[in-house]
Amino acid sequence: MVQEGEARAEETHHLPHPFKTFPKIIIPKELDGEMKGKKHIYKIEPYQPGKPIEEVKRELGLSDVIKLASNENPLGPSPRALEAMRKSLENVSYYPDGNCAILREKLSQKLGFPPSTFVFGNGVDEIIHFIGLAFLDEGDEAIMVDPSFVRYEAAVLLNKAICRKIPLRDFQYDVDGIIDAINERTKVIFIANPNNPTGTFLSKEKLGRLVQEAEGKLIVLDEAYYEFVDDSSFPDSLSYLREGKDLIILRTFSKIYGLAGLRIGYGVAKEETIQAIEHTREPFNVNYLAQVAAVAALDDEEHLRRTQRTIWEGKRYLYEQFEKMGLFYLPTQANFIFVDVKRDSREVFQALLREGVIVRTGDIFGCPTFLRVSIGTMEQNERFIKALRKVLGGAD
Ligand code: PMP
Repeated sequence: MVQEGEARAEETHHLPHPFKTFPKIIIPKELDGEMKGKKHIYKIEPYQPGKPIEEVKRELGLSDVIKLASNENPLGPSPRALEAMRKSLENVSYYPDGNCAILREKLSQKLGFPPSTFVFGNGVDEIIHFIGLAFLDEGDEAIMVDPSFVRYEAAVLLNKAICRKIPLRDFQYDVDGIIDAINERTKVIFIANPNNPTGTFLSKEKLGRLVQEAEGKLIVLDEAYYEFVDDSSFPDSLSYLREGKDLIILRTFSKIYGLAGLRIGYGVAKEETIQAIEHTREPFNVNYLAQVAAVAALDDEEHLRRTQRTIWEGKRYLYEQFEKMGLFYLPTQANFIFVDVKRDSREVFQALLREGVIVRTGDIFGCPTFLRVSIGTMEQNERFIKALRKVLGGAD
């Protein structure tokens, strides 16, 4: 087994994130020893999460830190969800309902699809993982765009399948490029709509064309940020499901519902797609409190609307400020903005940290001068802008 101390420079796998909170990742030189993982898993980057508030406080000796790094809900969880969980705490000695029956029924009513067309996961992350297990074999191909959400690649590589990455064009989906990449080995096409980290989206017209051309392939339409969309040309993806097309739509309780820490998301698709995924799912993958909270959050229209207003107002404010500062940004349909700070974003990130503001660097997405900042409360947005102005040298 390779010990950390034995690692030579060329064997050390450098993580692109400026912070290495994980132990060093070592790619063993000889992959034939005992206790090493399977060869192909070393191609997968362990996920680098946004830096936690407590860690920044501890490391930099700060008492007041805000996190605009992981696209969480700045208003916190739905109060109804909190109340429902409080009332249910005593039941945690029981295993959860592995079938998520109450939530299943509720979503079925809300979206107008049969209960059997839903699958639930420990976050959308887990459903992406299930999709890889269920649909990708060695040598199969999966198409995704670049940059996009990093977990698609992990789901593909874990199954020894091949990633076909189609670069965004001017930060927009290149549908013709995606269609051209489809071949007989293509099994899955991953589309984040809106896309992370750009916040750009695939319009009705473009998705319609893709769905038509990708007949027989599974389109994974990841709508984690769906509830923040305010553009009328955004597609009604459920209409394609009603037409019997091969797509799975993924949505999460982590973003607008403010339940990221509970880990719960769902997929809706044709029954046969869901059945395939069910073969890969662990029995109690969604915990009890997450189910209780999700059911209650779906009834909390007020919290949802308040969050939307906060994000849309914050978005207008940030656009205005970036324009005043002469910074290029991408108009967004999500609750984050990708902005070009025109210098090494890792340095800007570090300087912002010292001001108590955590954001994300663009280098992990191949855009080294960009930052991805989550839209916060107005107070948080103002604090971020003040810090950014200071860090960039008071640009005005
Ligand atoms: N898809 C996209 C596009 C995301 O940005 C995220 C969150 N970072 C996820 C899925 C994962 O969501 P969840 O918290 O439900 O696992």
